[in-house]
Amino acid sequence: MTDLLDLPPLTAARFAAIEDRVAALLRTGNDVVVMQGEALLPLEAAVKGAAHPGSTALNIVTGPYGQTFGGWLRDSGAKVVDLAVPFDTAVSAEQVAQALRDRPETAFVSLVHAEAATGNTNPVAEIAAVVREHGALLMLDAVASVAAEPLLTDAWGVDLCVIGGQKAMGGPAGVSAVAVSPRAWERIAANPAAPRRSYLSLLDWRDRWTAAGRTVLPHAPAQLEMLALEACLDRIAAEGLDGALARHRATAAALRAGVLALGTLTPYVRRAEDAAPVATTLRTPSGLDAAALVADVLRADPGVPVQSAGGALAREVLRVNHYGSAASPGTVRRTLDALAAALRERGLPADPAAALAAAGLTG
Ligand SMILES: *Cc1c(COP(=O)(O)O)cnc(C)c1O
Repeated sequence: MTDLLDLPPLTAARFAAIEDRVAALLRTGNDVVVMQGEALLPLEAAVKGAAHPGSTALNIVTGPYGQTFGGWLRDSGAKVVDLAVPFDTAVSAEQVAQALRDRPETAFVSLVHAEAATGNTNPVAEIAAVVREHGALLMLDAVASVAAEPLLTDAWGVDLCVIGGQKAMGGPAGVSAVAVSPRAWERIAANPAAPRRSYLSLLDWRDRWTAAGRTVLPHAPAQLEMLALEACLDRIAAEGLDGALARHRATAAALRAGVLALGTLTPYVRRAEDAAPVATTLRTPSGLDAAALVADVLRADPGVPVQSAGGALAREVLRVNHYGSAASPGTVRRTLDALAAALRERGLPADPAAALAAAGLTG
């Protein structure tokens, strides 16, 4: 595979052009920094940079990543208020407004857009409007929503918008990006505890790259990952972003309808409008271990993108990851067929013909 190895160096100009294309995807005129690590790098960099010690941060918890952010916020010395809702729902703008009325001193809000792990998604446009009106800085984890759901960074007023390539973009996991608003840069620069001279430092990127004309890269880029990111931007452009969004939405809707007609399993996320387009989570009836069912499904068809949910939900919830190239009618068909086979093998009711019909996959 020397074609992967004997490449000319990735130029600063090409790196900057990739950043500009990510900015276009995020509908932002803000600075975009493509960071050289998995998405947890810009997420931690954003939290540690923007949350000032002693300030109040509202951490909205609608899935496992919110719990991770809470830990980083506490490490930053912020006073953390957790607004947690059950993971089978979404948080509402009214709940966020109430939390901000309760703590008017709140300076930072963290929110996850789509939760791939639990299959729910949050109404970011409405929540961002509330945060904007209050004046706090908004950090959004859009790793699982970019290229699957509308993501309007500037129109919504998202100050720190973090994405990764590995979910709906169908790209690499080793590079990721954050769009930083002018307000966020000011807040980070004014934070004495913001990382500096550190791999976590957004200020280093600003000083050495973004504000320095983007002519000399601060360190050797992750070249293969950058080229993969560029290739997946090409692929999204070829399909059209609207096409990619529609494909993810249609896949989620078809799988949800198919499962409801199949029987035995129920969507974990109660309301269809709260279900994320990237992943569908399914609850097993009591007594049916979700991890065991996942093993049976994979034996029926190893190509089905299924896994058991993480943490406390592992025994009762399984998750179908239909993002990137797996957002397709083929994934829905194979998933429903394999679920039906696994359930029937256990003597449980499952009607694959009805499921495929409900999913619009007959004929
Ligand atoms: C996938 C994902 C990330 C990235 O984390 P990994 O667990 O390393 O894949 C971050 N946030 C959200 C909401 C995600 O779905």
